[in-house]
Amino acid sequence: MPINGRLLVPISLALVMASTACGTAAPVSGQAGVVVTMTPDAGSNASAAGSAPDDTPSPEVPTDAEIPTRAAGTFATATGRGRVIGTGKKRVRYRVSVERGIVWGDIPAWEPNEFAESIEQVLAAPNGWASSAQHPVTNAAVNLTRASWSFQRVDSSKIDVDVRLATPRTVDRLCGASGVDTQGVYSCKYGKTIMINLRRWLQGAPGYPVSMEDYHAGVINHEFGHFLGFAHMRCGGRGRPGPVMMTQTMGLHGCVPNVSPFARNGQFISGPWAPS
Ligand SMILES: [Zn+2]
Repeated sequence: MPINGRLLVPISLALVMASTACGTAAPVSGQAGVVVTMTPDAGSNASAAGSAPDDTPSPEVPTDAEIPTRAAGTFATATGRGRVIGTGKKRVRYRVSVERGIVWGDIPAWEPNEFAESIEQVLAAPNGWASSAQHPVTNAAVNLTRASWSFQRVDSSKIDVDVRLATPRTVDRLCGASGVDTQGVYSCKYGKTIMINLRRWLQGAPGYPVSMEDYHAGVINHEFGHFLGFAHMRCGGRGRPGPVMMTQTMGLHGCVPNVSPFARNGQFISGPWAPS
């Protein structure tokens, strides 16, 4: 069953969910679903839990100990303008930044343009939000009538969304200043800003059975979805693809993992609204 072994996660996450209003604030510090239930309390000391020997981590997924918990605390922004993605009516301008000084081992310093490229790929994917141009979204509950969006990365301050990748300490500091306790593990969202926890970006969500690439797509699509006006959704029925606005990392509730807002046939993947 999907929630077996992950049942404890939502309990640990309950407070975080309330404060971030976002299910993508899933724990990321361990590779094993059960182990991760310890991490919310462990905070930045979660490395001991995350390196539990009863799991066989992918060699491409760094352990907690390999991921720096802190860096410079300042941000470098991806420069220039990206291409316009899609032909949707509403142009969503977003900015991408990466904390300076994220380095470890032999891995070169993280470049904001690389992070920006990852986000652009997600937004431009065939079933991504940009395909709303071909499949406009109507939903009275969130005041959308034949809504469609296009996207463009900018480096100015006139933005709709600010996406930032940062080390756990910096996420804690900035999210904490907005009243969100990210505990060295979680990401958060405040105002126009999405703070992506480096640890989560590199490790994914334990127990959520998708590739790292798909995990990234799910996170970006989910968070952008909030900025497009969507709240959380629930599973629309057993065996159906989970809505991207569903907090899938906390439990699939019978749905099949899905990281795209639209199905291959162009249908918007929806479900009942969640209480949050
Ligand atoms: Zn959310």
